[in-house]
Order: sequence, then C-alpha cells, then structure tokens
Amino acid sequence: MKKIPAVCVIGSLNMDLTMTTKKMPKQGETVIGEHFETYPGGKGANQAVAAARLGANVTMIGAVGTDAFGDSLLKSLSQEGINVEGISKISDVATGVASIIMSDHDNRIIVASGANAFVTPELVEQYHEQIRDSDIVLVQLETPLEAIVRTIEIANEHSIPVIVNPAPFQELPEAILTGSTFLTPNEIELEAMKQETISNSIREKIILTKGADGVQFFENGRSKDVKSYQVKVADTTGAGDTFNGALATQLGSGFPLTDAVHYANAAAALSVTKLGAQGGMPTNVEVKQFII
Ligand code: ATP
Repeated sequence: MKKIPAVCVIGSLNMDLTMTTKKMPKQGETVIGEHFETYPGGKGANQAVAAARLGANVTMIGAVGTDAFGDSLLKSLSQEGINVEGISKISDVATGVASIIMSDHDNRIIVASGANAFVTPELVEQYHEQIRDSDIVLVQLETPLEAIVRTIEIANEHSIPVIVNPAPFQELPEAILTGSTFLTPNEIELEAMKQETISNSIREKIILTKGADGVQFFENGRSKDVKSYQVKVADTTGAGDTFNGALATQLGSGFPLTDAVHYANAAAALSVTKLGAQGGMPTNVEVKQFII
C-alpha cells in the first residue's frame, strides 16, 4: 500500500436477523423454522468493514438506537478497528434491523431503517472535520438523500473525492450526480439510472459492477472491461460492499483508477468464496496473495 488511507464512510448500520426455514409461511400461517442467527450488516457498516480489513483508517458516520443491537454493532465495528465516534446513539429509536427469512428457493427481507433515518444533514455537519480530514468519502443510499447531498457538498468544498454506491436504487438528485467523483451501480441499478438523462460527464464517472461478468469503467473517456476472477462461489452477499470498500481504500491510497478497480475486483471475488457479507471480506494480505 502506498500510504494508509483515511476513508470516511457515511451510511447505514443494521442488525441482520436471519432465520432459515424449510417451508416459507403462507399468509396467516406460523411455521417452526430451523436456525436463527444475528449478523452485523447495513451497507454502510459492511463497506466500512471491507475498507478496514484491507488496511484503511476508517471513520464511520451513522446512527444506532440506544438498544442492545446498537451496542453490539458499535462493538463489532470497534473490533474491526473502525473509529465509531461519528456514530450517534439516538434515544427512543430502534437500531436498524433487516428481518431475513431464508428457505431453499426463496428469501423474504424486510428492513426497518430505525435510527438510520436519523442521519440528517445536521448530523453529518457535526462531523465536518472528519470528512475534511479524510482522503476519500464513501456513501450508499440506505440513509436519507439530503444527508448524502450535504456530505458531498462538504467533500467538494475540501476537494475530497466521493464514491457514491447508488444502492438500493433511488432516483438521484442532480447534486449527487454532479457532486460525486465515482458512481458504482450494479447492472440493475444502472438500468434504473438510464431512466434519467445521463450526460457524458456523468457516464464517465460510472464504475459498473457486473457480478460474475466483472467490471466496466471509463479511463480517459474510453470504456474498459475487467474480467472477474473465476472462483468457487459460496455466497455472493456483500460482493458489492467489498468492491466499494476496496475501491475506496485503493483510491484513497493514491493508486490510479485502473489499479484500484483491478484490486477491488480481486477483493470482491475473494469475498464470494466465503459465507456472509462481513464474514467473507478479505484482508490486504489475502488479496495480495490471491493476485500473485
Ligand atoms: P451484492 O448486492 O451481492 O453485494 P452487487 O450486486 O452490489 O453485490 P455485483 O456486481 O454482483 O455487486 O458484484 C460486485 C463485484 O464482485 C463484481 O464486479 C466482481 O468484481 C465481484 N463478483 C461478484 N460475483 C462474482 C463471482 N461470481 N465471481 C467472481 N467475482 C464476483
């Protein structure tokens, strides 16, 4: 690594409540399931963990409630070496949760945003210094758009590059399209973006992740394709989050875009070989060994 990058992630923290069942309940039906596990999640937290494992100095800005899930999420991020001073505890509000029911052929997910909805422009403003002092800023769309717009304004004011991972997709305000340095949709999100008029200058910011088909991005105005690594897939959950965390780490270290995309492609490929979103995220040493 050229230098240890300071990565500031503004985004969501959720506790994933995962239940597996042989039979998905029908309307009004109760079934006895198999396993229940809780996993730390939320796109913001996942991307923060990806960047920290890969060696970045990560500061996260976000919000949890004053409940056991919130405490547990803060603990797990701290254990990854992430600076959690920018994560506010909002009283009388629940920490974000994702209730996930998984069976062989189906899965159903409900997200209750809880404290994530309290990430406001004012809350972001409180951490102006952390944004200013970072090498790169990374955001997703699981927290209110106005807060993301404010984050981008602060980053732009201090010429700090911003990666916007437009997931889950929402129509992007002009301020996000123009103020971002890079946009990292997957194919579904790009398809949704096409509904808007994308100018050439916006198009050239797009780093498109295509799952097992790799990555497409622009370099000096020209489209480039990067093939994915052929790996044995265990679980693709969190591939996109690993990609974004890795991309931020490399760009924040000062690597050129092409090198950063290749590295992120490798880190994300490694992540799909293991189970779980955060569980599958590799370290810098693992990525380096894999690339050789
Ligand atoms: P998710 O929502 O599952 O976290 P995503 O839809 O945001 O992922 P993808 O485009 O599916 O993102 O994957 C991100 C990157 O991960 C890909 O561009 C690629 O580098 C890597 N990747 C994903 N799936 C595979 C795979 N089967 N084999 C190798 N690499 C993969």
